[in-house]
Amino acid sequence: MTASQAGLGPKFESFWLEDARSEDDDVSPTLDGDRRCDVCIVGGGYTGLWTAIHLKQAAPATHVVLIEAQRCGSGGSGANAGFAAPLWAHFPLLRQMCGTEEALRLGRASHAAIDDIESLCRRHGVDAGLERNGTIWGATCPAHVGVWNDVVDALQPYQVHPYRRLSGEEIAERTGARTFLAGVLEPANATVHPGRLVRALRRIALDLGVEMYEGTPMRRLHRERPPQVETPSGTITAERVVLALYAWSAALPELRPSVAVICTDIIVSEAQPERIDAAGWTDGPALMSAHTMTEALRTTADGRVLYNKSGGALAFGARVDAALERPGHSRSRMRALFARRHPRLAEAPTARQWNGPIDRSRLGLPLFGPLPTCPDVFYGFGYSGRGVLTTVLGGRILASLVRDADDEWANTGLVRPPGRDFPPEPFRYFGALMVRGAIRRKDRRDDERRDIDPLTRAVYHLKPGGWTGTDPNR
Ligand SMILES: Cc1cc2nc3c(=O)[nH]c(=O)nc-3n(C[C@H](O)[C@H](O)[C@H](O)COP(=O)(O)OP(=O)(O)OC[C@H]3O[C@@H](n4cnc5c(N)ncnc54)[C@H](O)[C@@H]3O)c2cc1C
Repeated sequence: MTASQAGLGPKFESFWLEDARSEDDDVSPTLDGDRRCDVCIVGGGYTGLWTAIHLKQAAPATHVVLIEAQRCGSGGSGANAGFAAPLWAHFPLLRQMCGTEEALRLGRASHAAIDDIESLCRRHGVDAGLERNGTIWGATCPAHVGVWNDVVDALQPYQVHPYRRLSGEEIAERTGARTFLAGVLEPANATVHPGRLVRALRRIALDLGVEMYEGTPMRRLHRERPPQVETPSGTITAERVVLALYAWSAALPELRPSVAVICTDIIVSEAQPERIDAAGWTDGPALMSAHTMTEALRTTADGRVLYNKSGGALAFGARVDAALERPGHSRSRMRALFARRHPRLAEAPTARQWNGPIDRSRLGLPLFGPLPTCPDVFYGFGYSGRGVLTTVLGGRILASLVRDADDEWANTGLVRPPGRDFPPEPFRYFGALMVRGAIRRKDRRDDERRDIDPLTRAVYHLKPGGWTGTDPNR
């Protein structure tokens, strides 16, 4: 049985994956039979692949088997917008959760993850399409001007200055977008080609000796000692199991209450390098709006423009794949939204549209740790829309946990038990619909320069953390 027959894995193919596979279309075999190993990793996205790479680098003799329901990159890792943004925007939250020292360490490590990607790819002769052009976090309406102040001010006492303030004119000069009033530039940020990055990590993991099976979904997890992963035509018995399942973590009853799945929609234009050049955006920074449900725009190396809108379809229960079948916004709506932010570049035809799931945790930060029902099984999920760099750290955390290492990664504050953060269905789904409605209304009203009603304000406050939207009381 194939992964799609089994109902596992996404139903979309992003522009990135198709593009990357035109250069490297290697597929690993499906598992047929029974295997034993030291570590079995379930999920072939950035988290699973980084964990495998860190494990093999730390202890090359470790026998690592990785299984992926579809093909590596079929989940969020092949679908994302490719913003490689460090954790600084989450510094106040991180400090609350882990203390100042650890928050600073995690911020610095997430920043250094850009170098980690670059140097690893260079060593292995692969290309992740990394471009260090910076990112602008900008306001499109007066209510959003200064949402970054809390973060900038919180970092100030520690001599951490990742942000540079920009006026609307300066944003227009760097990107051609005249619809932003002000913002901050993070010059050290990068973008990646998500499809190339995931293919590169897959190639490196294979080079390091990871045994890989694609088209091989986990059907059941036997929570025993040692744990066993059951697939349609085989089993893997491992000393340790890592669940690198992202939004699909919701399929596990132990993890489901800690994650709500809401999709993000993306369109990418046909190549238009001359228009991008004329707008003055060639090699310019990527753009991220300060809406609670962020809008993001970036260029690609082959002269396209990508527009990303969060806050799309919601998954009922663990049914991530069903949510993916319903785009949150139609193509014409996405084009209209894009045109509001960068009218000149939105004129080019749309080449591709897709959506992908976001694994929202209550605090907007990922969770790692042993499964409460089996201490030899570890989870890592809840990136809440910031996974390109955070998964580099996630891989280190999981590799340390699996090896029983007593280091800064195994002891980080991001290692925490899953909580009962979201109510059970159907309350979770209908509650999420209400909160999404309130956020959409607030974002729209902010753009229209109008206030929100008290009910919207009250429901808006129920949103999970990590959405860096404006405080409606301000
Ligand atoms: C549209 C979109 C835009 C985004 N934009 C950004 C961005 O610009 N910047 C940023 O930092 N982050 C972004 N993200 C988030 C980022 O993509 C993720 O945080 C990151 O890819 C998570 O990696 P992962 O390996 O944990 O998950 P995934 O890449 O989803 O890997 C999980 C894998 O598990 C597999 N799987 C599922 N069930 C099973 C099973 N039963 N057995 C075996 N395998 C299974 C899936 O097929 C999948 O390949 C975005 C996400 C989306 C969807």
